Amino acid sequence: MSETIGYVHSVESFGAVDGPGVRFVVFMQGCPLRCLFCHNPDTWKMNEGEQMTATELFSQIKTYKNFIKKGGVTFSGGEPLLQPDFLYEVISLCKKEGIHTAIDTSGAVPLSTCKHVIEACDLVMLDIKDIDKEDCIQLTGQSNTNAMNILNHCDFIGRDVWIRHVLVPQYTYNAEKLHRLGKVLSWYSCIKKIEVIPFHKMGEYKWDYVDTPYQLTDIPSATPQQVNKAKEILKQYGLPV
Ligand code: SF4
Repeated sequence: MSETIGYVHSVESFGAVDGPGVRFVVFMQGCPLRCLFCHNPDTWKMNEGEQMTATELFSQIKTYKNFIKKGGVTFSGGEPLLQPDFLYEVISLCKKEGIHTAIDTSGAVPLSTCKHVIEACDLVMLDIKDIDKEDCIQLTGQSNTNAMNILNHCDFIGRDVWIRHVLVPQYTYNAEKLHRLGKVLSWYSCIKKIEVIPFHKMGEYKWDYVDTPYQLTDIPSATPQQVNKAKEILKQYGLPV
C-alpha cells in the first residue's frame, strides 16, 4: 500500500512554546482560514512546501527522541488537520515509539474529516479565534462552528485540550466578548489550560508574499496589561488561565 504524501512547510527541532516540554514542531502547509492577524501567511497554499511520506517525517522526529522525551511532537501550521490521513499515519508511528503528540489547530475543518486524528493524538491545542460566529467570520473568514464541534468531541472522548485565544485590540479585546468566552468554555471539563496570546505584527512583512494587503497595520499590539485584564475575566469562570 502506498503511503500518503504530506506537504510540510518547515520543522523546528526544539520548540518551547507549542505544548508541554521541549517539542519537535512540524509546521504543515495549507490553511483554509485567512485570519487578519496571521503571522504565517506563507503556509496558506496547500501544495507547496516539502513533500514527504509519514515514514520520512517520522525518521526525522525519531532522531530527536532523546531530546523530546519529556515533551513530544507538535503538529502546527497552517492547519495540520487539512492533511488528516498523513497526520494520522505520523501520529500512529509516534505512538508506537511512546512519543507524546499534540495538534495545534484552528479547528477549521469539519469534525467528520478529522475525528480519527483527534482520537489518536494526546493533546489538542485549539484556537478559539472569536466566540461570536459573525465576528469570527470577519476576523478569520469562517465561523467557529467547526472549532466548537471539535471541542465538543474532545469533551465527549476525554481528550485534553489547551485553548489558545489571540487578543486583538478592537476585535477580541472586548470585555463582553471575554465574558461570553469564559462562560462557554466553563462548560468543558476537557480544557486543561487557556493561553491568552497578545496580538503582534511581527509577521506583517510576510503578507507581501501572498500579495494580500495587511489590514491590521493601524491596530496596536496587545499590551501586557490588556492580557492580564483578559485573564482576570476568564479566571472569574474558574478556568485554568
Ligand atoms: S489559522 Fe493560523 S495559519 Fe491559518 S490564517 Fe489563521 S493564523 Fe494564519
